[in-house]
Amino acid sequence: MKIICIGRNYVEHAKELNNAVPSKPVFFMKPDTALLQKNNPFFYPEFSDDVQYETEIVLKINRNGRHIEKKFAHKYFDQIGVGIDFTARDLQAEQKKRGLPWEIAKAFDQSAPVGRFLPVSAFDDLNNINFSLKINGELRQKGNTGNMIFDFGDIISYISKFVSLKTGDLIFTGTPEGVGPIKIDDKFEVFIENEKLLEFNVK
Ligand code: MG
Repeated sequence: MKIICIGRNYVEHAKELNNAVPSKPVFFMKPDTALLQKNNPFFYPEFSDDVQYETEIVLKINRNGRHIEKKFAHKYFDQIGVGIDFTARDLQAEQKKRGLPWEIAKAFDQSAPVGRFLPVSAFDDLNNINFSLKINGELRQKGNTGNMIFDFGDIISYISKFVSLKTGDLIFTGTPEGVGPIKIDDKFEVFIENEKLLEFNVK
């Protein structure tokens, strides 16, 4: 399986990192070795001094497809969850400055904690999903899918022009504003509405 992540999909987040708002989706990938599941702890990597959280809605792909038309995109995912797109912001800043790829800042081991998933049928409106992150019990980031620049259909349609989607792939759909640094001993709790779907500690 693979993990495909959308960058700069919320206007206020693009602004907080001084990035232009994109006219087409921006995507990058993390390998399967980035996955962190079962609420296992995240170990702060030694190569960075500025690992930051990005809280994101995650789609789980349930059939293979390529060149998927937007109107059929909803048939390609059946579960929705939450994840953290951990980013070594110091390494990313260095790569951006030099115009180089982001992988060392985005694709490292454990950089994609993912929680429990809910069936799509549990949602009334996919363009109005509230999600949030608490660290040490304090609300640190919240978002609503209605604020995405590119919705789930746009994302699946766009990605699948370039990269075939396969059953089990995950799509991280971008982070709202409010990203920030983490530290050892932080306790993460991630929610859709009031339901906690992911929790883990930083070690
Ligand atoms: Mg992200």
